[in-house]
Amino acid sequence: MKPISVTAIPVDADSATAWMSGGNCRNYPPATFFPSDGVGVDRARKICNGCPVLGQCLEYALDQRIEHGVWGGCSERERRRILKRRRVSV
Ligand code: SF4
Repeated sequence: MKPISVTAIPVDADSATAWMSGGNCRNYPPATFFPSDGVGVDRARKICNGCPVLGQCLEYALDQRIEHGVWGGCSERERRRILKRRRVSV
C-alpha cells in the first residue's frame, strides 16, 4: 500500500496525543490500521516498523485499553497478551 498525501493538521504540542502527529501512519488511510485479516495486520505492522513513536503508540493503546486495530505494531491479540503478562508479573 502506498502512502497518501495528507494535509497537515495543527497539533496541540501539549496534548497527550501530540505524539500521533509523528507516526508513520499519518500518511496512510486509517482503515489500513483496522485490518480484517492477518495479511492486513502484517501490512500495518510493516508501516509501524521503524515508526519513531512506536513505543508511545503501544503504551497509549495499552493504557487506554484500545481493543481494535494495530497500534504500536501490535494487533489486538498481541496487546491482550502484553496486558495479561503485565498483570501476572505485578
Ligand atoms: S506505531 Fe504504527 S499505529 Fe502507532 S503511530 Fe506509528 S505507524 Fe501509527
